[in-house]
Amino acid sequence: MSIKENFCVNCDENREVTLKMVTIVHKIKDEEIPVQILMPHCVICGSQLSDLDIDEKHFDMALDEFRKRKKLLFPEQIKNLREKYGISQRAFARALGLAEPTINRYEQGAIQDIVYNNLLLLVDEPENMLKMAEQNKENLSEKEFNIIRNNVHKMQKCFSDEEKTFKDIKNVLEEKIEMLSNDMSNLLEIVNKNSHKIDKNSRAIGELDNKFGFFMREYRTQNVAAPRHAITWNTITKTNDSPGSNLKELYQYPLNKCN
Ligand SMILES: [Zn+2]
Repeated sequence: MSIKENFCVNCDENREVTLKMVTIVHKIKDEEIPVQILMPHCVICGSQLSDLDIDEKHFDMALDEFRKRKKLLFPEQIKNLREKYGISQRAFARALGLAEPTINRYEQGAIQDIVYNNLLLLVDEPENMLKMAEQNKENLSEKEFNIIRNNVHKMQKCFSDEEKTFKDIKNVLEEKIEMLSNDMSNLLEIVNKNSHKIDKNSRAIGELDNKFGFFMREYRTQNVAAPRHAITWNTITKTNDSPGSNLKELYQYPLNKCN
């Protein structure tokens, strides 16, 4: 294991270092941000030594802490937002009516003002992005504008397809519940009429009834989550054409096919 050495200004020569936890306070836009980090210290005189890599790291940590406190988008999120619309940093800046280097600076880690952060949050919504691009159309080439518009339309179509799929599932589910509900009523009626003949099965039938009741309550109280319970249906009825098996297939339908 190699022992790390740094230049110690106090001793005026290279010294072995030991790492100690220190708190460094950075001032970012008038806000004091303390950061805890391990810093090298001279083993001879104990002075805290500077290390370019570590200096950069604790400054980045302070910037991240500042973004967290102010709920600002992180550089990576701004990059993802831009790439969602398929355009360059310059084109994205122009589409938002900002100076050309602005987005590049944010993606490189400069802190954006809250007003610009709000603007970025707004254009995360494809419809707003298109409005903004239309507003600043004269700043964009025809090609850039078309790329934005096509990507926005693609996303809008994708959202409406997903919504339609959810509605389809819900309709099928409700239809099947209606069927199953009738089947269960008929079955329970038969069971009740013939209870003297099928006494030894009554406990199993009672359990079935409980399971069904439980499922129906779950479905009614958490309507949206219903497909998750569709799998439970296989425990109620085991035949191939049971509502459970159909719904299980439907549930596995790839909802996120647009991504
Ligand atoms: Zn020293």
